[in-house]
Amino acid sequence: MKAETNWKDELKNAIRSTKELQAFLPQNIQPIEDVLSYKTLLPPFFLNHLLKYPQDSPLWRQFIPSGIEEDLVMQKEGFFDPIGDLVKVKVPQLIHRYPNRVLYFPTSSCPVACRYCFRKNELEEKPKNLFGKDKEKIIYYLNKNTNIEEIIFSGGDPFVLDNNKIESELLFFAQFPHVKYIRFHTRFPVILPQRLDKDLLHLLQQFRDKTNIQLIFSLHINHEDEITPLLKEKIKPFTISFPWISQTVLLKNVNDKACALKNLYAQITLMNIRPYYLHHPDKVKGAMHFYLSREEGRRIYKELRQISSGWMVPHYIIDDANAKGKELAAVPE
Ligand code: SF4
Repeated sequence: MKAETNWKDELKNAIRSTKELQAFLPQNIQPIEDVLSYKTLLPPFFLNHLLKYPQDSPLWRQFIPSGIEEDLVMQKEGFFDPIGDLVKVKVPQLIHRYPNRVLYFPTSSCPVACRYCFRKNELEEKPKNLFGKDKEKIIYYLNKNTNIEEIIFSGGDPFVLDNNKIESELLFFAQFPHVKYIRFHTRFPVILPQRLDKDLLHLLQQFRDKTNIQLIFSLHINHEDEITPLLKEKIKPFTISFPWISQTVLLKNVNDKACALKNLYAQITLMNIRPYYLHHPDKVKGAMHFYLSREEGRRIYKELRQISSGWMVPHYIIDDANAKGKELAAVPE
Protein backbone atom coordinates (compact mmCIF):
# COMPACT_ATOMS: atom_id res chain seq x y z
CA MET A 1 0.00 0.00 0.00
CA LYS A 2 1.28 3.51 -0.88
CA ALA A 3 2.09 5.81 2.05
CA GLU A 4 -0.38 8.63 2.57
CA THR A 5 0.93 12.01 1.42
CA ASN A 6 0.81 15.18 3.49
CA TRP A 7 -1.67 17.85 2.34
CA LYS A 8 0.87 20.66 2.62
CA ASP A 9 3.37 18.76 0.43
CA GLU A 10 0.55 18.08 -2.02
CA LEU A 11 -0.07 21.81 -2.34
CA LYS A 12 3.65 22.55 -2.60
CA ASN A 13 3.98 19.99 -5.40
CA ALA A 14 0.75 20.97 -7.19
CA ILE A 15 0.75 21.49 -10.96
CA ARG A 16 0.42 25.23 -11.59
CA SER A 17 0.42 25.74 -15.37
CA THR A 18 -0.91 24.07 -18.48
CA LYS A 19 2.70 23.40 -19.56
CA GLU A 20 3.49 21.56 -16.32
CA LEU A 21 0.22 19.69 -16.66
CA GLN A 22 1.04 18.55 -20.20
CA ALA A 23 4.41 17.27 -19.01
CA PHE A 24 2.76 15.37 -16.11
CA LEU A 25 0.14 13.64 -18.27
CA PRO A 26 0.79 10.38 -20.18
CA GLN A 27 1.82 10.85 -23.82
CA ASN A 28 -1.35 9.32 -25.29
CA ILE A 29 -3.42 12.21 -23.89
CA GLN A 30 -4.63 14.79 -26.40
CA PRO A 31 -2.79 18.13 -25.95
CA ILE A 32 -4.07 20.44 -23.22
CA GLU A 33 -4.98 23.90 -24.52
CA ASP A 34 -3.13 26.81 -22.97
CA VAL A 35 -5.23 28.95 -20.64
CA LEU A 36 -3.58 32.19 -19.59
CA SER A 37 -6.39 34.21 -18.00
CA TYR A 38 -7.17 31.68 -15.25
CA LYS A 39 -4.87 29.76 -12.97
CA THR A 40 -4.19 26.03 -13.11
CA LEU A 41 -3.94 24.22 -9.78
CA LEU A 42 -3.97 20.46 -9.40
CA PRO A 43 -2.36 18.57 -6.50
CA PRO A 44 -0.79 15.23 -7.53
CA PHE A 45 -3.12 13.10 -5.34
CA PHE A 46 -6.23 14.35 -7.08
CA LEU A 47 -4.60 14.49 -10.51
CA ASN A 48 -3.64 10.81 -10.23
CA HIS A 49 -7.24 10.02 -9.30
CA LEU A 50 -8.49 12.00 -12.29
CA LEU A 51 -6.21 10.02 -14.62
CA LYS A 52 -8.34 6.93 -13.98
CA TYR A 53 -11.07 8.56 -16.08
CA PRO A 54 -11.26 9.45 -19.79
CA GLN A 55 -10.58 12.94 -21.12
CA ASP A 56 -14.26 13.69 -21.70
CA SER A 57 -15.27 12.57 -18.20
CA PRO A 58 -17.07 14.70 -15.57
CA LEU A 59 -13.80 14.94 -13.61
CA TRP A 60 -11.66 16.17 -16.50
CA ARG A 61 -14.31 18.70 -17.50
CA GLN A 62 -14.45 20.16 -13.99
CA PHE A 63 -10.73 20.44 -13.32
CA ILE A 64 -8.62 20.39 -16.52
CA PRO A 65 -8.22 23.83 -18.16
CA SER A 66 -9.81 24.29 -21.57
CA GLY A 67 -9.26 26.98 -24.21
CA ILE A 68 -13.03 27.60 -24.31
CA GLU A 69 -12.70 29.51 -21.00
CA GLU A 70 -11.04 32.30 -23.00
CA ASP A 71 -13.50 32.25 -25.91
CA LEU A 72 -14.37 35.91 -26.45
CA VAL A 73 -18.03 35.37 -27.39
CA MET A 74 -18.62 33.13 -24.35
CA GLN A 75 -16.73 35.59 -22.13
CA LYS A 76 -19.19 38.34 -23.12
CA GLU A 77 -22.16 36.25 -21.98
CA GLY A 78 -20.85 35.70 -18.47
CA PHE A 79 -20.39 38.04 -15.50
CA PHE A 80 -17.27 38.86 -13.47
CA ASP A 81 -19.37 38.70 -10.27
CA PRO A 82 -22.41 36.56 -11.16
CA ILE A 83 -24.16 36.62 -7.77
CA GLY A 84 -23.45 40.19 -6.70
CA ASP A 85 -20.79 39.60 -4.02
CA LEU A 86 -19.41 43.07 -4.63
CA VAL A 87 -22.83 44.64 -4.01
CA LYS A 88 -23.26 42.88 -0.68
CA VAL A 89 -19.75 43.17 0.77
CA LYS A 90 -20.08 45.33 3.89
CA VAL A 91 -16.51 45.44 5.17
CA PRO A 92 -13.51 43.60 3.67
CA GLN A 93 -13.98 39.79 3.89
CA LEU A 94 -17.63 40.04 5.00
CA ILE A 95 -20.69 39.61 2.75
CA HIS A 96 -24.06 40.26 4.38
CA ARG A 97 -26.91 39.02 2.21
CA TYR A 98 -29.44 37.55 4.68
CA PRO A 99 -30.41 39.02 8.07
CA ASN A 100 -29.05 36.29 10.36
CA ARG A 101 -25.83 35.18 8.63
CA VAL A 102 -22.71 36.48 6.91
CA LEU A 103 -20.16 34.97 4.57
CA TYR A 104 -16.59 35.42 5.77
CA PHE A 105 -13.55 35.03 3.48
CA PRO A 106 -10.52 34.06 5.59
CA THR A 107 -8.58 33.25 2.40
CA SER A 108 -8.71 33.53 -1.37
CA SER A 109 -6.77 30.26 -1.84
CA CYS A 110 -8.14 26.83 -2.74
CA PRO A 111 -6.72 23.31 -3.01
CA VAL A 112 -7.68 23.20 -6.71
CA ALA A 113 -8.86 25.54 -9.47
CA CYS A 114 -12.37 24.40 -10.46
CA ARG A 115 -12.93 25.49 -14.05
CA TYR A 116 -16.64 26.29 -13.43
CA CYS A 117 -16.09 28.26 -10.20
CA PHE A 118 -18.59 31.14 -9.79
CA ARG A 119 -15.84 33.19 -8.11
CA LYS A 120 -13.13 32.37 -10.66
CA ASN A 121 -12.78 35.99 -11.80
CA GLU A 122 -12.77 37.40 -8.26
CA LEU A 123 -10.23 34.78 -7.16
CA GLU A 124 -7.95 35.83 -10.05
CA GLU A 125 -8.20 39.57 -9.41
CA LYS A 126 -8.71 39.47 -5.62
CA PRO A 127 -10.55 42.81 -5.27
CA LYS A 128 -9.41 44.51 -2.04
CA ASN A 129 -12.93 45.13 -0.78
CA LEU A 130 -13.54 41.35 -0.86
CA PHE A 131 -10.19 39.98 0.24
CA GLY A 132 -8.44 42.88 2.01
CA LYS A 133 -8.03 42.33 5.75
CA ASP A 134 -9.34 44.62 8.48
CA LYS A 135 -10.41 42.84 11.67
CA GLU A 136 -11.27 46.14 13.40
CA LYS A 137 -13.95 46.86 10.81
CA ILE A 138 -15.34 43.33 11.22
CA ILE A 139 -15.53 43.80 15.00
CA TYR A 140 -17.37 47.11 14.52
CA TYR A 141 -19.81 45.60 12.02
CA LEU A 142 -20.62 42.53 14.11
CA ASN A 143 -21.09 44.56 17.28
CA LYS A 144 -23.55 46.75 15.40
CA ASN A 145 -25.45 43.83 13.85
CA THR A 146 -26.32 41.57 16.74
CA ASN A 147 -28.92 39.71 14.68
CA ILE A 148 -26.05 37.87 12.95
CA GLU A 149 -25.96 34.43 14.51
CA GLU A 150 -24.09 32.43 11.85
CA ILE A 151 -20.67 32.97 10.24
CA ILE A 152 -20.01 31.02 7.06
CA PHE A 153 -16.31 30.48 6.30
CA SER A 154 -15.93 30.48 2.54
CA GLY A 155 -13.54 32.11 0.07
CA GLY A 156 -11.35 30.38 -1.17
CA ASP A 157 -11.44 27.26 0.96
CA PRO A 158 -11.03 27.76 4.73
CA PHE A 159 -9.25 24.41 5.16
CA VAL A 160 -6.31 25.78 3.20
CA LEU A 161 -5.37 27.54 6.47
CA ASP A 162 -3.24 25.58 8.91
CA ASN A 163 -4.74 24.42 12.20
CA ASN A 164 -3.38 27.32 14.28
CA LYS A 165 -4.88 29.82 11.92
CA ILE A 166 -8.23 28.01 11.86
CA GLU A 167 -8.27 28.03 15.64
CA SER A 168 -7.51 31.75 15.83
CA GLU A 169 -10.24 32.53 13.27
CA LEU A 170 -12.75 30.49 15.28
CA LEU A 171 -11.75 32.17 18.55
CA PHE A 172 -12.05 35.57 16.91
CA PHE A 173 -15.75 34.98 16.17
CA ALA A 174 -16.37 33.37 19.57
CA GLN A 175 -15.94 36.82 21.17
CA PHE A 176 -19.39 37.86 19.86
CA PRO A 177 -22.08 36.46 22.18
CA HIS A 178 -24.71 36.48 19.40
CA VAL A 179 -22.68 34.10 17.17
CA LYS A 180 -24.18 30.63 17.64
CA TYR A 181 -23.09 28.78 14.52
CA ILE A 182 -20.00 28.64 12.33
CA ARG A 183 -20.27 26.86 9.01
CA PHE A 184 -17.36 25.78 6.80
CA HIS A 185 -17.81 25.54 3.04
CA THR A 186 -15.12 23.25 1.70
CA ARG A 187 -13.98 21.24 -1.29
CA PHE A 188 -10.84 20.02 0.50
CA PRO A 189 -12.15 16.57 1.55
CA VAL A 190 -12.67 15.72 -2.15
CA ILE A 191 -9.41 17.15 -3.46
CA LEU A 192 -7.11 16.32 -0.51
CA PRO A 193 -8.87 14.11 2.06
CA GLN A 194 -5.53 13.97 3.94
CA ARG A 195 -6.47 17.40 5.30
CA LEU A 196 -9.02 15.75 7.61
CA ASP A 197 -6.46 14.63 10.17
CA LYS A 198 -6.73 13.88 13.90
CA ASP A 199 -5.33 17.27 14.95
CA LEU A 200 -7.95 19.15 12.97
CA LEU A 201 -10.74 16.97 14.39
CA HIS A 202 -9.47 17.47 17.92
CA LEU A 203 -9.24 21.24 17.55
CA LEU A 204 -12.78 21.50 16.14
CA GLN A 205 -14.24 19.29 18.87
CA GLN A 206 -12.45 21.23 21.59
CA PHE A 207 -13.63 24.55 20.20
CA ARG A 208 -17.25 23.37 20.04
CA ASP A 209 -17.17 21.89 23.54
CA LYS A 210 -15.51 24.96 25.05
CA THR A 211 -17.69 27.61 23.40
CA ASN A 212 -20.99 25.81 22.69
CA ILE A 213 -20.84 27.26 19.19
CA GLN A 214 -22.25 24.70 16.79
CA LEU A 215 -19.96 23.83 13.86
CA ILE A 216 -21.52 22.73 10.58
CA PHE A 217 -19.69 21.57 7.45
CA SER A 218 -20.83 21.85 3.88
CA LEU A 219 -19.06 19.58 1.41
CA HIS A 220 -18.89 20.83 -2.16
CA ILE A 221 -19.21 17.72 -4.33
CA ASN A 222 -20.64 17.43 -7.83
CA HIS A 223 -20.23 13.85 -9.04
CA GLU A 224 -19.90 10.39 -7.53
CA ASP A 225 -16.54 9.90 -9.31
CA GLU A 226 -15.11 12.47 -6.88
CA ILE A 227 -15.51 9.97 -4.05
CA THR A 228 -12.23 8.17 -3.32
CA PRO A 229 -11.63 5.44 -0.70
CA LEU A 230 -9.48 7.97 1.21
CA LEU A 231 -12.33 10.49 1.27
CA LYS A 232 -14.66 7.87 2.78
CA GLU A 233 -12.08 6.87 5.38
CA LYS A 234 -11.03 10.38 6.41
CA ILE A 235 -14.44 12.01 6.56
CA LYS A 236 -15.99 9.32 8.78
CA PRO A 237 -14.82 10.61 12.21
CA PHE A 238 -15.81 14.14 11.15
CA THR A 239 -19.34 13.17 10.11
CA ILE A 240 -19.75 11.21 13.35
CA SER A 241 -18.78 14.31 15.34
CA PHE A 242 -20.48 17.11 13.38
CA PRO A 243 -23.45 17.73 11.06
CA TRP A 244 -22.49 17.69 7.37
CA ILE A 245 -24.54 18.91 4.45
CA SER A 246 -23.69 19.02 0.75
CA GLN A 247 -23.70 21.57 -2.02
CA THR A 248 -23.59 20.60 -5.67
CA VAL A 249 -23.49 22.76 -8.76
CA LEU A 250 -25.57 21.53 -11.67
CA LEU A 251 -23.13 21.61 -14.62
CA LYS A 252 -23.67 20.96 -18.31
CA ASN A 253 -21.95 17.76 -19.48
CA VAL A 254 -20.83 16.97 -15.92
CA ASN A 255 -23.86 16.01 -13.81
CA ASP A 256 -26.83 17.17 -15.91
CA LYS A 257 -28.63 13.82 -15.72
CA ALA A 258 -31.06 12.90 -12.96
CA CYS A 259 -29.43 9.47 -12.58
CA ALA A 260 -25.95 11.04 -12.07
CA LEU A 261 -27.35 13.19 -9.27
CA LYS A 262 -29.25 10.28 -7.76
CA ASN A 263 -26.07 8.18 -7.67
CA LEU A 264 -24.14 11.02 -6.01
CA TYR A 265 -26.79 11.55 -3.32
CA ALA A 266 -27.08 7.81 -2.67
CA GLN A 267 -23.31 7.71 -2.02
CA ILE A 268 -23.07 10.76 0.20
CA THR A 269 -26.03 9.79 2.37
CA LEU A 270 -24.13 6.56 3.09
CA MET A 271 -21.30 8.83 4.29
CA ASN A 272 -23.73 10.56 6.69
CA ILE A 273 -23.88 13.77 4.62
CA ARG A 274 -27.28 15.31 3.97
CA PRO A 275 -27.97 16.42 0.36
CA TYR A 276 -28.76 20.08 0.88
CA TYR A 277 -28.24 22.45 -2.03
CA LEU A 278 -28.30 21.84 -5.76
CA HIS A 279 -27.23 25.17 -7.30
CA HIS A 280 -28.40 26.19 -10.71
CA PRO A 281 -25.19 27.20 -12.58
CA ASP A 282 -24.32 30.90 -12.46
CA LYS A 283 -23.55 32.94 -15.58
CA VAL A 284 -19.80 33.07 -15.00
CA LYS A 285 -17.39 34.86 -17.32
CA GLY A 286 -14.96 32.13 -18.41
CA ALA A 287 -17.31 29.27 -17.47
CA MET A 288 -20.37 29.70 -19.71
CA HIS A 289 -19.70 26.29 -21.31
CA PHE A 290 -21.06 24.78 -18.05
CA TYR A 291 -24.27 26.81 -18.17
CA LEU A 292 -27.70 25.32 -18.87
CA SER A 293 -31.14 26.89 -18.99
CA ARG A 294 -33.57 27.04 -16.07
CA GLU A 295 -36.06 24.95 -18.07
CA GLU A 296 -33.44 22.23 -18.51
CA GLY A 297 -32.54 22.43 -14.81
CA ARG A 298 -36.18 22.13 -13.77
CA ARG A 299 -36.67 19.12 -16.04
CA ILE A 300 -33.66 17.35 -14.49
CA TYR A 301 -34.78 18.21 -10.94
CA LYS A 302 -38.31 16.98 -11.58
CA GLU A 303 -36.95 13.67 -12.83
CA LEU A 304 -34.59 13.46 -9.84
CA ARG A 305 -37.58 13.82 -7.51
CA GLN A 306 -39.43 11.08 -9.36
CA ILE A 307 -36.63 8.55 -9.10
CA SER A 308 -35.38 9.37 -5.55
CA SER A 309 -36.81 9.21 -2.05
CA GLY A 310 -37.68 12.71 -0.81
CA TRP A 311 -35.07 12.75 1.98
CA MET A 312 -32.35 12.17 -0.61
CA VAL A 313 -33.29 15.22 -2.71
CA PRO A 314 -31.65 18.62 -2.03
CA HIS A 315 -33.21 22.07 -2.46
CA TYR A 316 -32.73 23.27 -6.03
CA ILE A 317 -31.77 26.93 -5.81
CA ILE A 318 -30.69 29.82 -7.97
CA ASP A 319 -28.62 32.94 -7.14
CA ASP A 320 -29.18 35.89 -9.43
CA ALA A 321 -26.73 38.65 -10.38
CA ASN A 322 -29.27 41.04 -8.80
CA ALA A 323 -27.60 40.02 -5.50
CA LYS A 324 -30.95 39.23 -3.87
CA GLY A 325 -29.67 35.86 -2.71
CA LYS A 326 -30.88 32.30 -3.10
CA GLU A 327 -34.34 31.52 -4.41
CA LEU A 328 -35.93 28.16 -5.01
CA ALA A 329 -35.37 27.34 -8.68
CA ALA A 330 -38.17 24.77 -8.62
CA VAL A 331 -40.93 24.42 -6.08
CA PRO A 332 -41.60 20.79 -5.13
CA GLU A 333 -44.87 19.62 -6.78
S1 SF4 B 1 -12.74 25.14 -4.34
FE1 SF4 B 1 -14.63 26.40 -4.39
S2 SF4 B 1 -13.92 28.52 -4.42
FE2 SF4 B 1 -12.16 27.22 -4.91
S3 SF4 B 1 -12.11 27.13 -7.15
FE3 SF4 B 1 -13.31 25.37 -6.48
S4 SF4 B 1 -15.45 26.10 -6.47
FE4 SF4 B 1 -14.13 27.92 -6.53
